Amino acid sequence: MAQRLPRTRALVYLTLLLTLAGMALGQHLSERAGMAQLAAVAAERLELYAASLEAELARHAYLPSLMAIDADLQNLLAAPEDPALRQQASRKLAGIKVRAGLNLSFVTDASGRVLASSEAQLGTAEAVVHRLGTHLRSGNAHFFAANEINGSTDYFLLHTLSRAGRPLGQIVLRLNLAPLEATWIDQGLRSQGEKLLVVDDKEVVIMSSVPAWKYRLLSEPSAAEHSELLSSGRYAGPLRGALELFGKDGLQDEARMVQVPLDVDAGERQADTTPFTAPTQASRQELLAQQRSLVPLALRLLTLSDPSEVWRQARYAAWSGGAVGALIGLLALYLASRSRAHAQLLQASKALRMAHTQLEAQVDERTQELSHTNQELKRQIAQRLQAEDELMQAAKLAVLGQMSAGIAHEVNQPLTALRALSRNSLLLLEKGRIESVGNNLRTIDEMVERMTGITRQLKSFARKAESSHAPVSLASAVRGAKLLLEHRLQADQVEFSVAPELEQRWVRCEANRLEQVLVNLFANAIDAMKDSPLKRLSISTATLPESRGRRILLRVSDSGAGMSADLLPRLFEPFFTTKPAGQGLGLGLVISSKIIHEFGGNLRAHAQAAEQGGGMVFEFDLEVCTRDGAHV
Ligand code: ADP
Repeated sequence: MAQRLPRTRALVYLTLLLTLAGMALGQHLSERAGMAQLAAVAAERLELYAASLEAELARHAYLPSLMAIDADLQNLLAAPEDPALRQQASRKLAGIKVRAGLNLSFVTDASGRVLASSEAQLGTAEAVVHRLGTHLRSGNAHFFAANEINGSTDYFLLHTLSRAGRPLGQIVLRLNLAPLEATWIDQGLRSQGEKLLVVDDKEVVIMSSVPAWKYRLLSEPSAAEHSELLSSGRYAGPLRGALELFGKDGLQDEARMVQVPLDVDAGERQADTTPFTAPTQASRQELLAQQRSLVPLALRLLTLSDPSEVWRQARYAAWSGGAVGALIGLLALYLASRSRAHAQLLQASKALRMAHTQLEAQVDERTQELSHTNQELKRQIAQRLQAEDELMQAAKLAVLGQMSAGIAHEVNQPLTALRALSRNSLLLLEKGRIESVGNNLRTIDEMVERMTGITRQLKSFARKAESSHAPVSLASAVRGAKLLLEHRLQADQVEFSVAPELEQRWVRCEANRLEQVLVNLFANAIDAMKDSPLKRLSISTATLPESRGRRILLRVSDSGAGMSADLLPRLFEPFFTTKPAGQGLGLGLVISSKIIHEFGGNLRAHAQAAEQGGGMVFEFDLEVCTRDGAHV
């Protein structure tokens, strides 16, 4: 868990980083490609503009030299004062002007005096000579100048006529470039994104698709340069503020970004009052500038392309790049979390398998332990059963032992009587008193019968238990037990009473063991009544209502010393005895209780109330049956 969080956090940072990197990369690549494309388009356009300008100018390049060989113009220069020749030449010039699409054409003599002109009045031509005399005499074959009327750009073509190395005069043709410029403005308006500038050798914008930029300098001139430019007369009115497109190094041939005044009108107004003050940086727009030189014309063509679309695309590309970066990051996050979940799953299933194996091993071990314990228990139970059997037998023997003195007394008395009777019979026989002998023999027979009864009872009592249940008469079981304890009952003068209903009661159990229980209870009762003034042992029955007559309660109550309440719960504990050593084992009640339990009943004990004679009551329930063993 502690490790997982930093890893997740790192991946989140990585996602952010990838998003930013994707944005930067997308923007950079898109901008680079867009700019390259924009530059390529601009370069193509430049070629077109250059070609159209060159074609327009080249169309008239041959004209001055062609006119130089015209007879009318040559005649005029031979006789410049001839009015007829001047008129003839003027007509010719007017014709050429119309046919060639010129703006003005005129011829001057060597001093610059206008001899003939395409216009009816020579004033127009003379004004040109007056304004641009310097340039007309400079020896150049062509130059550009602003139109004095509408500020459009004029292109002048010059040709000097000479004879024998002496200049005679000059042919001057003026071509107005306003129509060409108009098409550029038109194009510029249509394609908002692109602006065109034509800059002359003095760094002055002489043509442009943006009218407000005309006659502005590219960079700010010095005062001397400025006055020189003004005095040249080539430019209409005062020059407007510099555009300041480039730094000191100017523009190289490759494309580059430049700051262009955005508010051209403001720039214009500013220029009117404070010349050469560039507009503030805030009102500038960034454009891509590209140039092409037209060396023969000493011109430079400049295009300024608006890269807003490129930037817009670059922004989209940035968002797309960011999205891709974020997607990669999220994918990494997803994969990482998936692999983590997978690893956790593997770990969990491994742990589960291990737990399962451990559990199986534990179960095996536990099963083994249990089966050992089970075997051990079985063995102990077998031992216990054997021990119980032995104990029961021992207890019986103990009772027998206790009884033996009484029995000896019981048997001794008849034996003594038998001896006396048999001797007496012999004497009576000798005397011939047959009748008395018969009486003696009858008495002997009764005595023998009585002794046989005692020994039979002893034999059956000493015999080991049989486990079969059979119908047993409650009255005869009580009698059998009483017979074994007869001598003690007589010696202690115990009043023994048996409820008469016992005679009709039959129960399903084992007679021998029932007698064992009764002998135990009777013997305990006799012991408990040893010091009691009243010695009464009563046997009675009661019904168990909940058994619906199927079971009967046999109750043995005595008038003995009873038991204190604190010792009562210990009554059925093995080896609990209050009798002196050698007389009590503390097993009689335990064994009796077990026997009754085996008969399906319960042996209970409670102290009897003092008004009922005190002493103890022992009672247990047995299954009732008929004499022939049928269920009730
Ligand atoms: P033992 O007779 O060998 O002592 P028993 O299990 O038969 O062993 O009896 C346990 C004890 O219960 C006797 O020692 C005696 O204190 C008490 N006891 C049994 N029957 C009676 C009774 N009827 N009245 C008073 N105490 C009794």
